[in-house]
Amino acid sequence: MNSPTNQIDWVARSLASVWHPCTQMKHHEDYPLVAIQRGQGPWLFDAQDNRFLDCISSWWTNLFGHAHPKINQAIIEQLNTIEHVMLAGFTHQPVIELSERLSQLTQGQLGHAFYASDGASAIEIALKMSHHFWKIQGKSEKKKFVCLRNSYHGETLGALAVTDVALFKEAYGSLLQNVYVVMSPDARQARIGESAEDISEQAIAALESCLKQHHHDISALVIEPLVQCAGQMAMHSATYVKEAALLCKQYDVHLIADEIAVGCGRTGTFFACEQAGVWPDFLTLSKGISAGYLPLSICLTRDSIYGAFYGDHLNQAFLHSHSYTGNPLACRAALAGLDIFENEQVLLKNQERALKIGEAFSWTKDDERIEHVRQQGMILAFDIQECYIEHPEIFSKELFQKGMQAGVLIRPIGQTVYVMPPYILSDAEIEFMGKSIHRALGPCLRLSAK
Ligand SMILES: *Cc1c(COP(=O)(O)O)cnc(C)c1O
Repeated sequence: MNSPTNQIDWVARSLASVWHPCTQMKHHEDYPLVAIQRGQGPWLFDAQDNRFLDCISSWWTNLFGHAHPKINQAIIEQLNTIEHVMLAGFTHQPVIELSERLSQLTQGQLGHAFYASDGASAIEIALKMSHHFWKIQGKSEKKKFVCLRNSYHGETLGALAVTDVALFKEAYGSLLQNVYVVMSPDARQARIGESAEDISEQAIAALESCLKQHHHDISALVIEPLVQCAGQMAMHSATYVKEAALLCKQYDVHLIADEIAVGCGRTGTFFACEQAGVWPDFLTLSKGISAGYLPLSICLTRDSIYGAFYGDHLNQAFLHSHSYTGNPLACRAALAGLDIFENEQVLLKNQERALKIGEAFSWTKDDERIEHVRQQGMILAFDIQECYIEHPEIFSKELFQKGMQAGVLIRPIGQTVYVMPPYILSDAEIEFMGKSIHRALGPCLRLSAK
């Protein structure tokens, strides 16, 4: 089963039949696919039993490691009870318990939960719900959205419209609705003599001028609080989130907090918004919410917004559904994850773990080729100055490959190297992560600037 031929066989069969996501398939001629056989804790094992430390939580989803005994057990029990039933006209214990517990985690501020299967769908739901709410209020002209420069909210057409990624806009821009794109509070924009707070203030001023001018036709502002993850892990202060929320209130515009990546404890608090003392009108979760096990996404909202849709007529109802809405197995995995948060004091232990991660990357501070070393809870990132990169066009793929050779799975975004590991790394694994990435980076960089 674990013979080397098997690995090659898998790769050939995959290339012959599977179309891989967001990938130029021809690049796999130079960078072979990796066939994964199994996972255990933070480790992934390939067909030849080589192991790789999953430093990016398998695309930011896996919070407690692979094959976690308690989550596995919870899913098996659910599997033997009810694997799936439609959520229209029916309900079940896992979806009720999950909705109640999420409401409690928001201190009852976001008392209703709407379900879907992937992150992009949760964004679609928030956008539709926001506009439909205004329409019910007799303000159907409020149908445009504001997003930030460098934002990422998913790749379906609605979510892609509020995503500011040049490559995607070039390819699919003609299919998308117009949105207002305002300055990002990305602290890396600070010039000499400027602070992160200065940048945040400039971004707030830009947002205010947009809202002042256009609030009549704006439905919602959508942000990724604290970290624009797909946008090269660009970080900003909680002050920005707080002030943006105030502006939204002032101009009668909804705030959608996309916590698909930053939620579930990633930034230190369970919700990133908590650090700003803000509860948005809509909060989207996915990725880590099912502990990386099953596709699940949720759009949380206020009871007052839910209430506006409550009436005698179907056209006043929120009209949206997916076949697997509220899937019991996925909800059960999420509940098992929430139990781990509670019973194992995960957020508290992550404080210590985050410090250790910072220490494991202290080498980045003494290297003039590296800039903008930044950390927010369980995300650490830094940028490589382009003039020091040996082959800029293929840097991220090259470093990925060197990482795999050193036993770590990382997936740089452009010139940004980051880690976003599961919340279970031991001290030794954290050290291994820092050292291996240092080692992998060496051959990708030049000693002197170009
Ligand atoms: C990943 C992500 C999404 C999209 O989620 P999918 O499950 O990939 O559709 C949306 N917003 C943010 C912030 C994300 O990181």
